[in-house]
Amino acid sequence: PAVTQVLSVQDLQAWYGESHILHGVNFNVNAGEVVTLLGRNGAGKTTTLKSIMGIIGKRTGSIRFDNQDIIRTSSDRIARMGIAFCPEERGIFASLDVRENLLLPPIVRPGGLSLDQIFDLFPNLKERLNSQGTKLSGGEQQMLAIARILRTGARFLMLDEPTEGLAPVIIQQIGHTIARLKSEGFTILLVEQNFRFASTVADRYYIVEHGKVIDGFANSELSANMDKLHTYLGV
Ligand code: ATP
Repeated sequence: PAVTQVLSVQDLQAWYGESHILHGVNFNVNAGEVVTLLGRNGAGKTTTLKSIMGIIGKRTGSIRFDNQDIIRTSSDRIARMGIAFCPEERGIFASLDVRENLLLPPIVRPGGLSLDQIFDLFPNLKERLNSQGTKLSGGEQQMLAIARILRTGARFLMLDEPTEGLAPVIIQQIGHTIARLKSEGFTILLVEQNFRFASTVADRYYIVEHGKVIDGFANSELSANMDKLHTYLGV
């Protein structure tokens, strides 16, 4: 089958104020893939996702999404093009209950999941419908955070360390969710420190080091790349 490239990032550079953080990030994502950015703390993975979402003040290079260059596009337009970002800190509203959190995100495109579809994907959330954000477990918060971006209608999902701080059984559930979203045609760009988890869901990997992508390989090439993973990630 023909491969459709949905995202292509070329020579991406980004700054926080005067700090030059990304020094030339290059990678691409094809439709329907799960692609994982791996790398140590501070390597620039989150900054890469924020740059794609358009929420970094200064960025240069090229970011093409659906054949349009979005390097100068505003973040709200980028959202309306169908890109969603689920931050590491999850971004749910602690003082709102689950239902309110699910009703709040703006629907940017047709095709956003209904509440019934959300509950089918995350049965726990239905049971917790009237619980406040603060009362949820870490796993429930993460599921709610993913559910919220699915409400918007985005088809390109960027998930920043969705497994951080979660118990193994919950991590497994998140893995099932990602696999299911992939089977339903979503495209997923994942940032992970948890390599073992990433290897259960990813089609391809890129290694980010000091603000650059220094290598990339497919899941099928994993065993040939284990030395590199040891060197760069200590796994
Ligand atoms: P982590 O897992 O720690 O988030 P990461 O690979 O996602 O790692 P980034 O969060 O992209 O790394 O951070 C890259 C660099 O940018 C780090 O040196 C970090 O200190 C710096 N940085 C991150 N956010 C800001 C900010 N708001 N202002 C200034 N520097 C920042």
